[in-house]
Amino acid sequence: MSKQRPVARGEARSGEPKGSAPTKRAGGGDSSFPFGGLQIDFGRGDGSAPLALPAIDIAAEPATPVPAVGGPGSVAAEAGRTESKLVIVGSGPAGLTAAIYAARANLEPIVLGGTTPGGQLMLTSDVENYPGFHDGIQGPDLMALFRAQAERFGTLVLDVDVDAVDLSGRPFRLWARGVEYQAQSVIVSTGASAMWLGLESETRLRGRGVSACATCDGFFFRDREIGVVGGGDTAFEEATYLTRFASKIHLLHRRDAFRASKIMVDRAKANPKIEIHTNVAVDEVLGDEKVSGVQLRDTETGKRSKMPLDGLFIAIGHRPNTDAFRDWLDIDDKGYLVVHDRTNTKIDGVFVAGDVHDHRYRQAVTAAGDGCMAAIDAERWLESQGIAEATTLTAW
Ligand code: NDP
Repeated sequence: MSKQRPVARGEARSGEPKGSAPTKRAGGGDSSFPFGGLQIDFGRGDGSAPLALPAIDIAAEPATPVPAVGGPGSVAAEAGRTESKLVIVGSGPAGLTAAIYAARANLEPIVLGGTTPGGQLMLTSDVENYPGFHDGIQGPDLMALFRAQAERFGTLVLDVDVDAVDLSGRPFRLWARGVEYQAQSVIVSTGASAMWLGLESETRLRGRGVSACATCDGFFFRDREIGVVGGGDTAFEEATYLTRFASKIHLLHRRDAFRASKIMVDRAKANPKIEIHTNVAVDEVLGDEKVSGVQLRDTETGKRSKMPLDGLFIAIGHRPNTDAFRDWLDIDDKGYLVVHDRTNTKIDGVFVAGDVHDHRYRQAVTAAGDGCMAAIDAERWLESQGIAEATTLTAW
């Protein structure tokens, strides 16, 4: 077994890792940003500049301290562990909720959270529908709380991308930055990432008027004229949301039929700020330092035209992050992992939670619930194998 002590994000490395170093990266960029005392990366996963966010005091006592039941009150994360009864891949609401439950059941989980940890909520500003936050909470603040809670019970969270796995037998093996991790069970909660058009100009102007997150960046387009690309529910939802800020929104869709639900389309059609353009493809985003418009092509006639715009939101769907697992687990026709009987996969001991399999609900609270279920299923499975003590009824 070739192993190297894992390097936490921000920690100095000494030399290149040994062992079978995979080349494929499952995650995104590598930009760092300080956040309280945590090593949380504020890279946005879309290549654009990190979000500038105020630090919050995650060490502060909650208003009503709740004693830990069934787990230690405070356990420092032990750096350097590479073996665990449970390794969780991904650090969004699903992965970190699974970690909270598993840590409280004394499974001492390791979370391999990615180099842009925290999931899609890191790209979200106001979260007003997560229960328990009466006045709403910023997405990154919510994820910092998830993480602090998981670490409080002894979870080791490492901001590394899993590059490759071997699920052929136990212990399952996972590689991240060339370091091998071994696990008796695995929860895959790698989430999904926004899709892009794939234009050079789109990449160049990301963070300079091109965005894939209306809730993050809509604010910057107050009284501006902007475009939204796509014909699904996301595009219509974002276009409607952006009417809070923009003076005019052009919804640009490549066909004349929509995937979006009728109610969303009707709502947009009734909004005087939204103009819907069908049968148009965006061939280029125009602008040097910032977006100045788009080059359009009529998908029926081929006729080209220019449209001046101050910003462009790409809302053409999400891609589940399955790269490291696609050779091992079942994938559906949309590319999402397939679950059997709630959180199980076709491999005993490997479980799935969150948006990497769920393209229906895609909510933080449903992902968190999924993470809870996966942790309980993993714990019960470990008990059935005699690997974990049979304490499920009281552990949670
Ligand atoms: P969808 O896959 O439903 O729609 C993607 C849209 O983007 C399609 O119209 C597609 O065009 C277009 N598109 C894809 N690739 C390109 C490209 N390269 N260039 C131009 N256009 C492109 O994704 P959504 O994110 O909209 O929705 C995903 C799921 O989430 C759906 O099940 C949806 O119902 C759900 N959802 C529900 C919401 C709600 O209920 N409030 C809100 C948001 C999403 P084409 O149609 O031609 O393929």
